[in-house]
Amino acid sequence: MRYYSTRNRSHPVNFETAALTGLAPDGGLFIPENIPPYPAAVRSSLGTMRFHDIAFETIKPFVHPEIPDSQLMDLVLSAYSFEAPLIPVGDRLVLELFHGPTAAFKDFGARFMARAFSWLRRNEDRPLRILVATSGDTGGAVADGFFGIPGISVTVLYPKGRVSPLQERQIAGLGGNISALAVEGSFDDCQRLVKAAFSDKELQKRLVLSSANSINISRLIPQAVYYAAAAGKAFAGRVDDDGEATPRLVSRITETEPEKTEAGQPISFCVPSGNFGNLTAGLYAMKMEAPILGFIAATNINKTVPDYLATGLYEARPSRPTISNAMDVGAPSNFERMSAHWSYETLRQDIRGTSVSDLDTRKAIFRVREKYGYFLDPHGAVGWEAADNLVPRSSSNSGPLAVLATAHPAKFAETVEPLTGPLPVPNSLKQAMQRVPEFLTIPADLSTLVEVLETL
Ligand SMILES: *Cc1c(COP(=O)(O)O)cnc(C)c1O
Repeated sequence: MRYYSTRNRSHPVNFETAALTGLAPDGGLFIPENIPPYPAAVRSSLGTMRFHDIAFETIKPFVHPEIPDSQLMDLVLSAYSFEAPLIPVGDRLVLELFHGPTAAFKDFGARFMARAFSWLRRNEDRPLRILVATSGDTGGAVADGFFGIPGISVTVLYPKGRVSPLQERQIAGLGGNISALAVEGSFDDCQRLVKAAFSDKELQKRLVLSSANSINISRLIPQAVYYAAAAGKAFAGRVDDDGEATPRLVSRITETEPEKTEAGQPISFCVPSGNFGNLTAGLYAMKMEAPILGFIAATNINKTVPDYLATGLYEARPSRPTISNAMDVGAPSNFERMSAHWSYETLRQDIRGTSVSDLDTRKAIFRVREKYGYFLDPHGAVGWEAADNLVPRSSSNSGPLAVLATAHPAKFAETVEPLTGPLPVPNSLKQAMQRVPEFLTIPADLSTLVEVLETL
């Protein structure tokens, strides 16, 4: 597959270059030259295929022929020791994306990316250094994804005192090839420092640097996998039940059999969104002809994209803090990618947008726990509430609707527990809480960062 910059179609690169450089030299984002449909035989068996096989078939056209098939299968098997169950909650579905090691959907992208990078650099002697700035969630997923991966080390910059104790342990508690820098400043300072390091010519001579943020195409493509898997299941009239492999948060209050969805209907997804990488990956799955009807873009009050869908005018703004803080984005970086692929008219046909206040997010967490015995995290709750706003209860003939639960509620216990009572905590998070964070505190200036990078 060839990739272009969103800003210039005349310099195609291969997957390796697109993945390892992250951002195109002209400041644009890399996009694939086309998004091929699944072969008919794959499309018709998405509902019964193993998750790994769907991952293989979804990613393959985007890395072919650079990553050989057998190697791709190894990467996928090693990246995904967990799945994405689609379960009924009330009269809709929830796609649980939090069964990975850091309990958020970013594990799907970060774990594939780490293994792809390692393989692409298999013949290089000099180690690769990944620099990543985080406001909380990305740092943990990237650190965990790259932990123990040969030939690569990761340095995570996070704003000191502004991430939760759990997030700090996920970022700074692993050790080994992962180092953590607590920056005396804001998330914006961290991002500014990372950008400055990338344009420091002297530093570039001494270290091989790369980034791992959400604009990287190798993080985006693997996120199309769970959309295709869920759409396939729903189309086949299957949902997952409370098996031991995917323990439910609580046993459901009602004892009735989980409702099967009606077979033969394409699904809609409601996607809690910030930088819009997740939703863009959903559009890729739809374009590949997984049985998907459309999307709801659910945001908190940072509603740049819902406003764009309503008016046709794109207006980036400063972000405002909310309780669904992984979505506090006023200038969504993947918007450039979405609009390079699709026109306003197409986007408006496939996506409906709406925004949800913190108060309504809290009400949704409370209501869903009361009514169904199910715990939502603040991001998933934005999705639930958005679906309530846009889908009138009477219109059940529009096919199944799945809300994406992007994080485990225990990651945001301080917000969720006052509304729901005590939360079950998955083992991965219990283990992370036991770790002892080790980090260096640095002021927000480039010369200190450069000095520190050379000693790590
Ligand atoms: C990153 C994140 C989001 C937003 O995803 P985008 O791809 O940036 O739109 C939503 N929920 C959680 C829990 C996240 O960590």
